[in-house]
Amino acid sequence: MLLDQAPLTEIAIVPAMYSPQDIRRRARTKIVATVGPACSSPEQLRTLAQAGVDVFRLNMAHAEPDVQQVHVDNIRRLGDELGEPIAILVDLAGPKIRLGELPDDRIFCETGEEFVFVADQVANSSHELTSTYAPLVKELSVGDLMMLADGTVSMAVVRKEPGRAIMTVVQRGAIRSRQGINLPGAKLSVPAISVTDHQHAIWAAQAGVDFVSLSFVRAPDEVRALKDIVRSAGSSARVVAKIEKREALDRLDEVVQAADAVMVARGDLGVEIDVAEMPVEQKRIIRTCQRYQRPVIIATQMLDSMHDSPRPTRAEATDVANAILDGADACMLSGETAVGKFPREAVAMMNRIALATEASVHDRRPREPERQHESSNGLNPITRAVVRGAGEMAYDLKAKLVVVASHSGRTALATSQHRSFVPTVGVSQCEETLRQMCLYWGVTPLRGAPATDVQELIKYTDAWACRVGCAKKGDRIVIVGGSHLTAGAAGDEMAAGVHDVVLVHEVEGSA
Ligand code: PEP
Repeated sequence: MLLDQAPLTEIAIVPAMYSPQDIRRRARTKIVATVGPACSSPEQLRTLAQAGVDVFRLNMAHAEPDVQQVHVDNIRRLGDELGEPIAILVDLAGPKIRLGELPDDRIFCETGEEFVFVADQVANSSHELTSTYAPLVKELSVGDLMMLADGTVSMAVVRKEPGRAIMTVVQRGAIRSRQGINLPGAKLSVPAISVTDHQHAIWAAQAGVDFVSLSFVRAPDEVRALKDIVRSAGSSARVVAKIEKREALDRLDEVVQAADAVMVARGDLGVEIDVAEMPVEQKRIIRTCQRYQRPVIIATQMLDSMHDSPRPTRAEATDVANAILDGADACMLSGETAVGKFPREAVAMMNRIALATEASVHDRRPREPERQHESSNGLNPITRAVVRGAGEMAYDLKAKLVVVASHSGRTALATSQHRSFVPTVGVSQCEETLRQMCLYWGVTPLRGAPATDVQELIKYTDAWACRVGCAKKGDRIVIVGGSHLTAGAAGDEMAAGVHDVVLVHEVEGSA
């Protein structure tokens, strides 16, 4: 349905808090930043949010729920102070196997030197190693390659003895206590969701976070199991599958379909598979996510040198730009914001690279997402067609703003997937949905808009657009939304008999 020029009788009063939401200065690509000692105070979090962070990530491998709860509270308070939705992603450690304690915390391993993994909890000599995974020694086989210290050190299993696996160093280097162990290709029986992960997932659900990610996903069932845990705890948090294992790449379509969003976790992926293959796999993951309309986050070492430097390398800037040009919805900062010396600069730089990259393609028509199986994203075909039409109309009519009213967030996500460069705001009566939009490329969630009444929504967004300077009298605004928009009642875009609407409106407010 196309309604033209709905009447406008008065300009709504807009809260005075929207300055950080100046959608012309914020990149359309979303920024995920990891919280750590370098940025965890309320002031530091505020600085990062104002520099462009959309989603804060809490890494459960590094702190327990009682510590993370403080961050959740601070981020929620910050969102209220700034008047903008800020999302929280809780990253579960998953079945990561780690080294136990080493004598002196560190050992240098020389090529050809022998080390012994022992089944016991405690090492009795400087050449004995332990792990956090008790059955490791039993499940290792002769010939297995073990990667340590982020893949910089490797050892091969040369012999097995009762309760012991004898290893030879293949690639020399230093290892430290509690570092991760990667066993590319080895089939281990370690459960996908440990007891600790389960407890952390329940805490995250009860804390009301917006996204929960699972590390080392191998199969779609693991993603579904986490969804069940989160749902049974009464949360609508979206589940993110971290792709960092060969097994997940082998079942990529199924894993992506099972997830609500995906992370290319390049830190471990680049160790679990040959790092030379990783760039091509990253592109394949992005394409698969586009096919199923799942937001995809590119993670790890994006601006790695900014741990210690206020400027990135040329290669890092190019990496971020290429990820965006390939179709990433979000780019993630890990140590750069968690422990780096320049967290604010890293976020600001990510935003600048994204803005410059987006500017190079901003006059493109909205893209036609690859055709996919009807049920693959749960999107009603009417919604899909309406959203596509809205993008085309906004482009052809040179609209200054698209407003997407979305109850569950599906219409907003579908809108995002078209990659329209017309500034787009998402509105919803549901605060959780608004926060989930923080991950949707190009959609700026707008708090406080009357999302279920089309006339009120027009008044509100006209006033908002004029106020932040993205539209003026006579400019066109395209409004797209589900049936709840015209029916004036809360509804779900998936409801039976849904009739989505597109409305083209000319601003009648202040010139
Ligand atoms: C990664 O491996 O790239 C990743 C994001 O996971 P983590 O930081 O938990 O290792």
